[in-house]
Amino acid sequence: MTLSERDKKHLWHPLTQHKIHPESIAITQAKGAVLYAEDGKEYIDGIASWYTSAYGHCHPYIVTQVKKQVETLDQVVFAGLTHPPVVKLSEALIDILPKNQNKLFFSDNGSTSVEVAIKMSLQYHFNRGEKRNVLIAFEEGFHGDTFGAMSVSGLSVYNGPFEDFFLSVERIPVPNGQNNQEVLKQLQAIIAENKVASFIYEPLVQGAAAMKMHDAEGLDLLIEACKNAGVITIADEVMTGFGKTGKHFASLHLQHLPDIMCMSKALTAGMVPMAITSCTEAVYQAFYSDDIGKGLFHGHTYSANPIACTAALAGIELLQTEEMQNNIERVVKSHQKFNERIKNHPKVACTRQCGIIYAIDLNVEMERYGNLRDKLLSFFLDNELFMRPLGSTVYIAAPYVITDEQLQKIYDKIEILLQKIV
Ligand SMILES: *Cc1c(COP(=O)(O)O)cnc(C)c1O
Repeated sequence: MTLSERDKKHLWHPLTQHKIHPESIAITQAKGAVLYAEDGKEYIDGIASWYTSAYGHCHPYIVTQVKKQVETLDQVVFAGLTHPPVVKLSEALIDILPKNQNKLFFSDNGSTSVEVAIKMSLQYHFNRGEKRNVLIAFEEGFHGDTFGAMSVSGLSVYNGPFEDFFLSVERIPVPNGQNNQEVLKQLQAIIAENKVASFIYEPLVQGAAAMKMHDAEGLDLLIEACKNAGVITIADEVMTGFGKTGKHFASLHLQHLPDIMCMSKALTAGMVPMAITSCTEAVYQAFYSDDIGKGLFHGHTYSANPIACTAALAGIELLQTEEMQNNIERVVKSHQKFNERIKNHPKVACTRQCGIIYAIDLNVEMERYGNLRDKLLSFFLDNELFMRPLGSTVYIAAPYVITDEQLQKIYDKIEILLQKIV
């Protein structure tokens, strides 16, 4: 029996309706931008395994560093104890984060980094003797699958069954350059009518909303209005962090910096799960007290695991190398060139790019929309490309080390898709 056959016996995959999609492709090896399958096929990883393997799979530097750490210190309790990898990581990360970020709180994945951020923002006000119980979020945002994170995500088939159990959230549209003043007014009205604790947003690019991009100036207006009203701002950079937008963080494209930031995915360079919620000194100070009850009593058993911290530190070192920055620039330019080639294609409704993220909305009739995603997915898989189109949007967010040849293959297949498939 193949791995794919054995898989079906006991495994329940994420985000999968198994009756409709029973098959899983078995990947036995990965290197750079390539996934090697059990049946001998070689897939180009066009989405860096959900934006995690930014510097390429099994990068030799990260592998070497992690191997050394595995033999030195595996796991230790992070309540009351500390260790070299976490201390070094804290210094390296603070160095590249927006300059108002000063404290790091660890958890295990993007969703928990958001839970921590939400709890921080609620308790920040609570500790200061203010009860604020409403959160603001973007309509089509995605922040994860735990309850707090689901609450602030836009409503969809994913979180619909749990809606009755959500936190109080007011949703606003993203600013698109045309509606900036209207959205700002909406936000200000919500702040005036409610006790708003925080505003959470994915800065500039909303990954799960099919790589929707919004207006930096408009977002800046919203953050500024929050600051003026004492509303904590939370930048969810789980997807956008660590180079995707061309800068180390999307928040660095903005004038107004967030009070809290969420990081995961590429944080550990696709090696092992870990997440960090960072905050300003001012947020931290609201918890710093002689009163034990004012502390942040949230913790995960594997918080700041030394192996994960080592992978993260190695990743940040790689990100800052000239070689990796050149790779990012090369991919950005390559997408721009491809965009010139296809943006006017009749089957292209519109295109957009932010850093290494490039998305194409296909111009397809609604009645064909239903099974379009499956059709696109199998077209790419048949051509040995691992891409996960969202609705009628095809996007690329490959590892920065993807070669020009590999990029060209993705572009060529997208062009064939436009000519023959949609
Ligand atoms: C993926 C993602 C999350 C959730 O992260 P998980 O590690 O899957 O829990 C949260 N926010 C954003 C913006 C994401 O892209």
